Amino acid sequence: MRSQIRLGKVFGIQIGLHYSWFLIALLIVFSLNAQFHLANPAWSVGLVLGLAIATAVLFFVCLLLHELAHSLVAKARGIPVREITLFALGGVSQIDGESTDAKTEFQIAIVGPLTSAVIGLLCFGAVYALPKAVTPGIAMLTWLGYINFGLAAFNLVPGYPLDGGRILRSVLWWKSGDAERATHNAAVTGQVVGGLFVTLGIVQFFFGANVGGLWIAFIGWFLLQAAGETRRQASLKRAFENVRVGDIMSHDCATVDGHQSVQDLVERLFKSGRRCFVVMDDGHVAGLVTPQDIRQVSRTQWPVTLVDAVMRPLEGLHAVAPETPLGNALQVMAKENVNQLPVMSNSHLDGVLSRAEVLNYLQTRAELEQ
Ligand SMILES: [Zn+2]
Repeated sequence: MRSQIRLGKVFGIQIGLHYSWFLIALLIVFSLNAQFHLANPAWSVGLVLGLAIATAVLFFVCLLLHELAHSLVAKARGIPVREITLFALGGVSQIDGESTDAKTEFQIAIVGPLTSAVIGLLCFGAVYALPKAVTPGIAMLTWLGYINFGLAAFNLVPGYPLDGGRILRSVLWWKSGDAERATHNAAVTGQVVGGLFVTLGIVQFFFGANVGGLWIAFIGWFLLQAAGETRRQASLKRAFENVRVGDIMSHDCATVDGHQSVQDLVERLFKSGRRCFVVMDDGHVAGLVTPQDIRQVSRTQWPVTLVDAVMRPLEGLHAVAPETPLGNALQVMAKENVNQLPVMSNSHLDGVLSRAEVLNYLQTRAELEQ
């Protein structure tokens, strides 16, 4: 889930919106508008609408605070956080990297629901302290109090990747000392919970004639997907155990002169069928060039553009060492959104690791295991 609209930075963490967020924002404003109007028919249309919008904005602020709590604990524990994205089903923190121990995992997970519960308590506390009259402010605080308790409770459901699932994972990890097994078991629980949500939602929709059932089914489906993905990643990680980048990288990456035109390179590319070229400038490695980079230049410019101008300079590339575990290299690829990584040792290019080699390796392995 990447942000498509950036709002700015808080504590160095990028905050953004995914397009799907607009759908939920509209739905919440509409439903709040209807709810407030029904409860207080004497209030004017403008007042109710303004109140609905203000309450919805504060709700998203509460969601952000929940995510910020996760992110700040992760950062304090030395795990970098890239961004927080609000989307149709809530918020998500892009935490780059994994907890190194069960305790850290537990703290990062629990602080989110705790934050929501504290906000809920503060809202109800304010309602209790304020004079007993139905004012717009009270209506807003009451709704925010319930919704924050709801957020805390829902996130504590032990279905990975919900916070409760992460807590479960950290406890399993702490008890067994086996992080991968804990991830697998937490993800299976997540799939079970997701399946239950889908079933419950469908039953509600068809037998209870409740449209909200569709929403529950949708959340369940999302959980099923996410938990399934986590399970696949966990089993991939196991497949990559003890495999180093140097074991499967290609050593014979073709070289190309940086002063050559892109047109010449494309002709060679077609002939050789290679996907990656090491660019040499005056005898030393200057960067990498792939079909992806060539596509950035329009065809008519190929004869007059130099390879140097389209390559990815070595300094900007995330190089890995031959002894880097393959799983870590794949994480770098995914994070940087690249298909190739240069493999370097002592500032010397040993080879290139591309997705193609990883796929080949996986295929061979799967055939041998059958
Ligand atoms: Zn959370």
